[in-house]
Amino acid sequence: LPPGERVGFAVIGLGRIALEEVLPAFAQCKTARPVALVSGSPEKARLVAAQYGIRPEAVHGYAEMERLRDDPAVQAVYIALPNGMHREYTERAAAIGKHVLCEKPMATSAEDARAMVAACAKAQRWLMIAYRSQYEPTNRAVIALVRSGELGKLRFIEATNTQANGPGPQWRYSRQLAGGGALPDIGLYCLNAARYVTGEEPVELTATTLSPEGDERYREVEESVAFQLRFPSGVLARCLSSYGAYQDRMLRLQFERGAVTMPHAFDYQGQRLVVQRRVGDVPGEEERIIRPRNQFAQEIDHFAGCVRENRRPHTPGEEGLQDQVLMEAIYRAAAEQRPQHL
Ligand code: NDP
Repeated sequence: LPPGERVGFAVIGLGRIALEEVLPAFAQCKTARPVALVSGSPEKARLVAAQYGIRPEAVHGYAEMERLRDDPAVQAVYIALPNGMHREYTERAAAIGKHVLCEKPMATSAEDARAMVAACAKAQRWLMIAYRSQYEPTNRAVIALVRSGELGKLRFIEATNTQANGPGPQWRYSRQLAGGGALPDIGLYCLNAARYVTGEEPVELTATTLSPEGDERYREVEESVAFQLRFPSGVLARCLSSYGAYQDRMLRLQFERGAVTMPHAFDYQGQRLVVQRRVGDVPGEEERIIRPRNQFAQEIDHFAGCVRENRRPHTPGEEGLQDQVLMEAIYRAAAEQRPQHL
């Protein structure tokens, strides 16, 4: 679409995800463009605006965000703030008539997530949570493979998301700003994948959290979490997430008649899909080649399409809310050391 017909976004919070992924991804979008910025760092915001051809008068501080109301070029906001701020900025954006694409995790509690859904419903604005993996072609291919029944029934899921996190202080180690540690930040990819791969909601879960003693970073939030989900069809998912180990973002599925391994399943790029199965009498292995695409651009374009055509996003607020509910159950299971029935 020509620039003037694209859905205009205000990007709120110019941190790593905004500067390194979201803003550059707009160059690969077909129906969206960045037209305004909201930031607490005026100098940085000015430079970023100049870099992306955003008008200087479309750069605002947090306190003045409501000025976006009078800017018709802005139809939606992309919230890239620390988790604990998502609720406030979603509510403020909806109140001034803007659609909201909010980073994951949606919030720091199910209560806040519910309030966000309600605020957008009341304002009749669309709310989407930025579950980028659900817009990434290889993850989509895996979902299609499961649904096709090609390898028989899905039986087990193994999902891992680990990365060695840096020294504190940073908002990710604050309960108030992050809502938890590895679980809401990166373990969420495992949880959400278990749900989109099965297309089901878990009925039982168990969990254990772990934090190294004496490590200041993990006084308020967990370093590691392992959890297990049982789905109505009998699928069992084992998930592991940690800030304390070298990065591994693998998704593995076992079916009755084969297995799928996806190294880098939750990475920004480099997804692969390896299928193992018996061909005749011989166990075989093949890699399926799937055309890579910028998942951030896919995600932003999807939301722009929803705004343009007035349709519900594929990953609406309710999708984020369900994960918040489940994460609270995971923490309960870990604290009580017993299974939670859902
Ligand atoms: P950063 O810490 O890099 O950036 C957050 C930005 O928010 C800051 O640069 C700042 O922008 C603004 N901010 C406002 N108030 C605060 C505050 N009190 N403390 C810290 N920052 C503040 O975080 P990320 O970009 O890594 O994460 C932002 C969001 O994006 C999170 O919800 C995170 O979970 C999500 N995320 C998603 C990823 C994905 O793959 N989808 C990957 C990484 C993060 P300014 O200077 O402009 O005011």
